[in-house]
Amino acid sequence: MTKRVLILGGTGEARRLAGLLADRVEVTTSLAGRTANPARLPGVVRTGGFGGADGLAKYLAAHRIEKLVDATHPYAARMGSNAVDAARRAKTPLLRVERPPWIAEPGDDWRRFKTLDALVAGLPSLGSHALITLGGADLEKFLALNGVALTVRAIDPPPAVVERSDITLILERGPFDLDGELALLSARGIDVLVTRDSGGAATSAKLVAARTKGLPVAMLARPARPRVNSVAEVADAVRWVLSDEKPEEDQEHDKR
Ligand code: NAP
Repeated sequence: MTKRVLILGGTGEARRLAGLLADRVEVTTSLAGRTANPARLPGVVRTGGFGGADGLAKYLAAHRIEKLVDATHPYAARMGSNAVDAARRAKTPLLRVERPPWIAEPGDDWRRFKTLDALVAGLPSLGSHALITLGGADLEKFLALNGVALTVRAIDPPPAVVERSDITLILERGPFDLDGELALLSARGIDVLVTRDSGGAATSAKLVAARTKGLPVAMLARPARPRVNSVAEVADAVRWVLSDEKPEEDQEHDKR
């Protein structure tokens, strides 16, 4: 049976997976180290980059990791690619846990943008006060906008914090509920929501709030990540880790 598992984390799925596995196998969760006070995790936690796919492959070999689970956020494009590359080099079976994208419902007014540049360029035509929920990264691109006030919600202060009367920073960690989201939109006079297509329930209330108030949503598309053996549910990842699937079978699966 599998004994040593590495989870590439930074998400609620990774935390739940570590919790379900911790008393059955040796679990290490890897965090990038972006969040100042990450939620506590069962099992061992290591923090910081590996030094690319090569570094991760070396880590897998040196720590005799038997299975690798990439449970990073759908927008962690580089890590998603490095995991595939490193798993192939180290011949470590890999599974990705990825939340399905959100699905629009009647009444939703979602405008999808393939790139952040396109989203920023299109924003002035959608509203004059945007709630930015992109995790704090990439804020600089919005700073050149004229005539669009910004309310930025992030867990940690974004790198590009700017003292400007038309920019408000809210430091808060989800989950968020509908009443709170409706109150925020009203109190700040928000008329457009900017979001990633993160999926999952923890941050979806903002979409319901936007629908309720008839506001447009500017949605940044998910980045491309290499195709790999994937599941949406943490329970399926638990089964995969605990199964005696042979590595060869996983590698075959990955090629599909
Ligand atoms: P990224 O752009 O794909 O990764 C950039 C670099 O950060 C990677 O090349 C890797 O460095 C390091 N890294 C990323 N995830 C790591 C992990 N779990 N453990 C160790 N090193 C990691 O990733 P990102 O978008 O900056 O996300 C960083 C972390 O935040 C991830 O754990 C992700 O799950 C979490 N997160 C991201 C978002 C988002 O919207 N992007 C949202 C919520 C949570 P090396 O090449 O040196 O190994």
